[in-house]
Amino acid sequence: MNEIEDFIVTEPYMPSEGEKKAIAELEAKGIAPKNWNSKKKDVVSFKKNLREDMYEKQNKLCAYCRIHVPLACVPMHREHIVHKDAHPKWMFLPQNLCIACPVCNDYKGTKEVLVNKNIEEYPKDGRGFNIIHPMYDRYSDHIELVGGILYRGKTPKGRFTIDTCHLYRVDLAEERVDQRIKEDKGEIMAGIITLLSKSEEYVDDNMKFIQYVCDIVKKYKQENVNDDNK
Ligand SMILES: [Zn+2]
Repeated sequence: MNEIEDFIVTEPYMPSEGEKKAIAELEAKGIAPKNWNSKKKDVVSFKKNLREDMYEKQNKLCAYCRIHVPLACVPMHREHIVHKDAHPKWMFLPQNLCIACPVCNDYKGTKEVLVNKNIEEYPKDGRGFNIIHPMYDRYSDHIELVGGILYRGKTPKGRFTIDTCHLYRVDLAEERVDQRIKEDKGEIMAGIITLLSKSEEYVDDNMKFIQYVCDIVKKYKQENVNDDNK
C-alpha cells in the first residue's frame, strides 16, 4: 500500500465559531440523533465543510477501504465512527467524524466499534476502538494488501475492519486490479495470476474474481499481440 493510502489524519475538522455555537445550542437542549438533520444554517455548513475538509485530509479516499471515490460522481458519506444512534453525545465531535464510501458506510451500519461501549469520555487513542480509526491508527499496521489487491487482516482490529465493512467484497478486489494495471501497465500480470491461488480466502465471490482476472489477462494479451503485429 502506498503512502497516500496509508494516511493518518492529524487534525480533525475545526468548526467555525458560528458552527460551534449552533452545535452548543443543540447540545444544551439535549442532543438526539435527529439533530444531525437540523436545518440550522450553521449545522448545514458544519456538515458541508467537514466533508470537504476530510475529503482532502483523507487524500480523497474512504477511511475503511482506502479507495478513491470522485466527489463529483458519488457523494462520500459523512461517517460517525462511533454510531450516532447509540452514542448521540459524540454526533458533532470532529474526532468522531470522517468520510467513507457509501458501500463501506452501509455495511458498517450501526455496529458498535468501541472496545468498551459504556465509557463516558471519547477515547484519546486507537486502543479504545475495535475498528481502524483514521485519526489514531496506521492502516498498514492492521491490514495488508496482498499483491496490492486483496485485504488481509494482520491484527484483530484489521480483521474487525475487514469483516465490518466487507472489505472482502469482490468488486473492491476488481477495482484494485484495475488500479494496479493502470499504474504498472501490465507488468504485474504475473503477480495478479498468482493471487488466484489464494483468492478464495480473501473474496466473497471467488468464481467472479477468477473470471474477472482471466478476462483482464485475455484482454491484455490480445492488446499486446495486436501491438506486436503492427
Ligand atoms: Zn470504502
